[in-house]
Amino acid sequence: MDATISGSSPTSRDPVIITIDGPAGTGKSSVAHRLASRLGLDFLDTGAMYRAAALIALETGIDPDQGEALAAAISDMGVRFDWQSDPPRLMLDDRDVSARIRDLDVSGIVSIVAAQSPVRSVLVERQRDIAEAHPRLVTEGRDQGSVVFPDAAVRFFLDASIEVRAQRRIKQLASAGQTIDEHEIRSDIESRDRLDTSRDDAPLIKPEGAIVIDSSNKSLPEVVEEMERIVRDRLPDAEFTS
Ligand code: C5P
Repeated sequence: MDATISGSSPTSRDPVIITIDGPAGTGKSSVAHRLASRLGLDFLDTGAMYRAAALIALETGIDPDQGEALAAAISDMGVRFDWQSDPPRLMLDDRDVSARIRDLDVSGIVSIVAAQSPVRSVLVERQRDIAEAHPRLVTEGRDQGSVVFPDAAVRFFLDASIEVRAQRRIKQLASAGQTIDEHEIRSDIESRDRLDTSRDDAPLIKPEGAIVIDSSNKSLPEVVEEMERIVRDRLPDAEFTS
């Protein structure tokens, strides 16, 4: 059918990938989810996939630093998203573990699990498969703009001070009804920062050419608005939700 007659321009459904990387507690997930909704794109939370891998380690008793064994277990169990819900729910086989993967026992080992190259290989491959199936995507994590999608149309690095990040994570857990020890939250964030920036495979970095946004003194809607403006300016021919 003629694309003009059908009302959509030939480029309207072209793939477009937007990446948001940054450390723990910057609000990446919320920002990425809202940005995706504003632009009419799908949303991928890659941290959830590493968290699911950490949950597999806890449940199977495999040590978090046994990369090969964990990678095999991930392939066996199937870490996938249920795209019928918004945001997509993280499923381990047919079990919805979206809430469980936010618990502190998972957070406590996730960066060790994420430092294992065999685990990263399996999950990076899965992320690229997801992007094939969902080619119009806002994806967030630690390595999305640097390693997984270096050719993404727009790449952001979202940062914030450690104080602000700790306070945000505390609020987030409190609103999920969890009891919080402030000291424990801050040390969880600091230790994950340390592990994520110092690992050999795909360490957390500001990807070259990425647009850096510091959200310490900005609200969530302000950050989303700024990113949306930048994306629309940079990609004037892409068709987004208006
Ligand atoms: O984003 P979130 O805090 O849920 O990520 C949990 C952990 O997963 C991070 O601390 C990091 O160790 C790991 N991760 C990663 N690469 C990604 C996303 C998350 O190594 N792309």
